[in-house]
Amino acid sequence: MSEEKKTGSCLCGDISYSFNESSVISASHCHCTDCQRSTGSGKATIIMVPEEALEIKGELKFYTVTGTDGSHISRGFCEKCGSPLLSLIEEVEGLRLVKAGSLDDSSWLKIDSNFWSSSARHWSPVDETLHSFTKNPET
Ligand SMILES: [Zn+2]
Ligand SMILES: [Zn+2]
Repeated sequence: MSEEKKTGSCLCGDISYSFNESSVISASHCHCTDCQRSTGSGKATIIMVPEEALEIKGELKFYTVTGTDGSHISRGFCEKCGSPLLSLIEEVEGLRLVKAGSLDDSSWLKIDSNFWSSSARHWSPVDETLHSFTKNPET
């Protein structure tokens, strides 16, 4: 992977971010019902990057929920325009999950797997060409 800087922002532009393509750990579609509700869509497409690789300009607001396994998921969004930009698991240090739809250019992105195929909606089907986890990847 290249050292190219990848950039993204919220809809209003108050919050922007960047990371190196080489820092990307993996990318996945998450079909869990919390991702459906928080994105208003069939799934969230998330890019895992180390926290130190991610540079953020602007102030995110966070909303935290307890996940099915008892961990705490905080979803960061722009207070002004409401765009979801990233999430993090409070119990997992140093990891950030960037929402792929907020990238300025996502043509380079390759998705590795599906999470929570068990709750995928028929109008937003699971990509059968990828490896699928019925719930979180640990299970
Ligand atoms: Zn915004
Ligand atoms: Zn999810």
